[in-house]
Amino acid sequence: MTIARDELTVEVGRPDRIVKLPDAVAALIAAGEVVERPAAVLKELLENSVDAGARRISIELTGAGRERIAVHDDGRGIPADELSVAFERHATSKLRQADELYRLHGYGFRGEALPAIAAAAGRLSFTSCTGDSLAAARISFRDGRCEGVQAAARAPGSSVELIDLFANQPARRAFLAGPRAERTALVRVAADLVLAHPELSLRLTIDGRELLNHQPSAPAGLESGDDESSLREALVSVFGSAAAQRAIFVESGDDDALRVDGYAGAPDDSRRNRDAIRLFVNGRGIHDRRLSYAIQDAYRDWLPSGRFPLAVVRVQVPANEVDVNVHPAKSEVKLLQADRAFSTIQRSLREALARNRAHVPVRLSSGLGGRRPDLEYADQSGPFAPFQASLERSPRSAVPTVSGRPAEPDLEPKPSLPPLRMVGQLHRTFIIAEGPNGLVLVDQHGAHERVVYERLLAARGDQRSTAQQPLLAPVVFRLDAVESAAWQDSAEALGDLGFEVELFAERALRIHSVPAALPSVTDAEQLLRGVLADLSADDRPPSRFDPVAASAACHGSVRRGAPMDPPSMSALLRDLERCRNPHLCPHGRPTLVEIAADDLWREFGRT
Ligand code: ADP
Ligand code: MG
Repeated sequence: MTIARDELTVEVGRPDRIVKLPDAVAALIAAGEVVERPAAVLKELLENSVDAGARRISIELTGAGRERIAVHDDGRGIPADELSVAFERHATSKLRQADELYRLHGYGFRGEALPAIAAAAGRLSFTSCTGDSLAAARISFRDGRCEGVQAAARAPGSSVELIDLFANQPARRAFLAGPRAERTALVRVAADLVLAHPELSLRLTIDGRELLNHQPSAPAGLESGDDESSLREALVSVFGSAAAQRAIFVESGDDDALRVDGYAGAPDDSRRNRDAIRLFVNGRGIHDRRLSYAIQDAYRDWLPSGRFPLAVVRVQVPANEVDVNVHPAKSEVKLLQADRAFSTIQRSLREALARNRAHVPVRLSSGLGGRRPDLEYADQSGPFAPFQASLERSPRSAVPTVSGRPAEPDLEPKPSLPPLRMVGQLHRTFIIAEGPNGLVLVDQHGAHERVVYERLLAARGDQRSTAQQPLLAPVVFRLDAVESAAWQDSAEALGDLGFEVELFAERALRIHSVPAALPSVTDAEQLLRGVLADLSADDRPPSRFDPVAASAACHGSVRRGAPMDPPSMSALLRDLERCRNPHLCPHGRPTLVEIAADDLWREFGRT
């Protein structure tokens, strides 16, 4: 914008006097905030179209938006006599009082976009027709100056066309990203609108090529498709039909104060960057590091590090619980209940992913560190819930995931195994994992036994109540003669491990609690009977292991033949990595075998 010298000259009596900036300067400063790049301009224009009730929007771009941006909509338009007002600073039809700022549902409300854009463009025209007037009117600007309003022809709706963006701001031009990056940003703005409002029809061309064409099957205004299918249509338009078909619908359940829905892409459709993570709060595409981290975190056990999911997550909160004015381009928001949003997103995605285990790809690349103390599985459900719950209750460092900060180092011993990367389960018995040297097969029962055994020993003699797990109701049972003898021999050792058992009649036991290290115990009687049977077996080989603890570990561990879900398997591998002696189960058998990659190559005749 060429600003006449006299406009820019501020009369100052003394250098530090506070003066009001001339309007033209103020407009340019505002332009700098709102329209820092073509994509930001497009975003403002599209938001205005949506606010105007448009159902069809078409976008034409030339030269990555710098040469030409045109947006046509079929919204309600601006009456001819209000056209010039719309381009005055702080002119808005959407806001009358300051407190409305917090109640506003629409996109725009600061009345800054149009004047700022007009100031930044070499030429701008805005043509509009309200449904009730036959004639349309056009307002034109050149270098930020209004050239007048004249009659025009147009169907109801508005068309904005701007030519030569930043023509008069060489500095801003210099700071623009290259045309490729700018085009990506422009397409993303349009795509975000499709994802936020799948009911709109939207077409985008760049240099004459159609890059996006979203035509919903249930157009706005007619019968509306349900959220799930209309959003899936949007996914098809934005990410292609293959990825859209593989994506899993996510829903947080009914809670008017915070609703989350969207689609979780299949792990197969992951990316090398975060570009396919799309977050919306009340229909507005936003960037939020923490919420985006919640999404990534939900995929922890499904994606290798360095891969990022495709995920579209829409958060709905009451309008007064979100402040959209924390960022000049409104691309960041402040949520009153940010922590709840974080955990709701994380939980809904995890649940959706767990329901769709069919999508688990075989993951061969590594990157899973030795420890990930901030995992928590408490929210998981599904067919594996009991075992999962058992892992969850086992002692682990409590670093809150909700902090959004990276995991903090904890004080647990260094891993004694290299990090093993969970790949899958074989015969409901072995965990297939990738180690640094090749394939590793882990006996799920033996490994869990080892983990539990070491925990039992670590807590032995611990008189604190945390070492014990009280039963909801004491379990009473009668011993036979053999069990009774075994009980005489081992009562003290069992007590040390955290069993609280009393002999209350001649041959009857009452169990009050079991060791906290045996979290998956569902039947205390069976557990104790199993231990007593082990201890009374006369063919027991002499062992350097503690027989009572080993037996308790055996009866308190996940069985062979039990299905395990990927998070549980990963958690077990991590626990095993931290054992002092991860290679042997408490009975002295190997917990894992390794098949070196070199040997595999040999088998394939490649050496
Ligand atoms: P805001 O959107 O914050 O109100 P803008 O400068 O973006 O401020 O727009 C100013 C006003 O111009 C809006 O309040 C709206 O009344 C009108 N307007 C802008 N674009 C359109 C459009 N595409 N269709 C109808 N009215 C529009
Ligand atoms: Mg606006």
